[in-house]
Amino acid sequence: MGNLEEYLDLVGADTITAIIRQASSIYGKHMLHLNSTYLGGGVAEMLSSLLPLTNDASVDAGWRVLHGNSDFFAITKQFHNSLQGGRLRLTRAKKEIYLETNRKFSIFTHIDHDMVVVHDPQPLPMIRYYRKSQPWIWRCHIDITDPNRELWEFLKTFIIRYDVVIISSEDYRKPDLPVEQRVIHPAIDPLAPKNRPMGDQEAHHILDKFGIPTDRPILAQVSRFDRWKDPLGVLDVYRKVRRKVDCRLVLCGSMASDDPEGYSVYDEVREKSSDLLEKGDLILITYQSNRLVNAIQRAATVVIQKSVREGFGLTVTEAMWKSRPVVASAIGGIPLQIEDGTNGFTLPPRDADAFADRIVELVRNPALCETMGTRARETVRQRFLVTRLLKDYLELFADLTG
Ligand code: UDP
Repeated sequence: MGNLEEYLDLVGADTITAIIRQASSIYGKHMLHLNSTYLGGGVAEMLSSLLPLTNDASVDAGWRVLHGNSDFFAITKQFHNSLQGGRLRLTRAKKEIYLETNRKFSIFTHIDHDMVVVHDPQPLPMIRYYRKSQPWIWRCHIDITDPNRELWEFLKTFIIRYDVVIISSEDYRKPDLPVEQRVIHPAIDPLAPKNRPMGDQEAHHILDKFGIPTDRPILAQVSRFDRWKDPLGVLDVYRKVRRKVDCRLVLCGSMASDDPEGYSVYDEVREKSSDLLEKGDLILITYQSNRLVNAIQRAATVVIQKSVREGFGLTVTEAMWKSRPVVASAIGGIPLQIEDGTNGFTLPPRDADAFADRIVELVRNPALCETMGTRARETVRQRFLVTRLLKDYLELFADLTG
């Protein structure tokens, strides 16, 4: 992990050579990524893999994490929710805390890089506090098809200062935004501890350590405890499935430092599932471990992703890479990855019966699981590995500064 040669067998010499060629036009340049957490969630996950590889391609890349207190992250989580369609009271106090946190961070964050990539809404206003002397990119990882209008207009006052906005899907293009918008799909690192090959023995050992028995088929959703990931809906689905096939549900969701809602959603899940927990039918995990995520995704007979909004859904990609059939909502970035009925199933997010039916079908049919899983892995190999993401960023960097 972190050296391009290690990816040769997986992606081929052509891909690695194309990356080296792309980098050669921007040697000596320095890009900066700015986000709001170094741990938890898809953005931190991607940056952890992308940055070492960018440096290995001889292009300097740095990573800074915005400092904010709990008020700030409570507000930006509300912003995140209402960019995805949730309600918001956008008060003057909220705006002030949002802006002041960014302003203070800018005082001791010196930027003299050749390109700046700002991820998601938390550090978006940073651009206001610099004399801009390089291209700035806003990388939006969220599904912004139907944002709260008032918030969108407020955030637009910062977005229009950017040179390019990167979105995860064509569907997220904003016609009202007079800024170039490019689509770059997220990607996973096949050699990261979360995705690297893991034998059955090692997986069992890890599952055992975390008290996850493998005597029954496992259904798993790996996701932050976030309402948009609908963990309560997954419980409903599980109850329906359990009436037809014997299986266990694992919900694995560590807490991200920029998501203060995780604990209350987790408490609600616990409250509503005490019977399942008592019987050992449900296992809840909040511990953050990449190897554990790897083991759970591999051990699962079926992986679920019942999100009601999902910018892309790296957990879907991760499970597909492990040749697991994924039953997921047909929303956001998920249909970019799953072709319904071919390499997994996509369904209306609120249709618990349909989710249950598909899961039962898969648990009863190992051959179908295997066929879908094999196709799923090939989809990821071709389109969603970090080497492609690296190439996309280098191309953008070269276009804007080369
Ligand atoms: N993740 C994790 N541990 C957990 C839950 C999630 O490491 O307990 C990781 C997951 O494997 C994935 C990322 O967090 O890499 C979530 O990315 P995704 O795009 O699915 O959703 P986001 O959290 O960014 O909305």
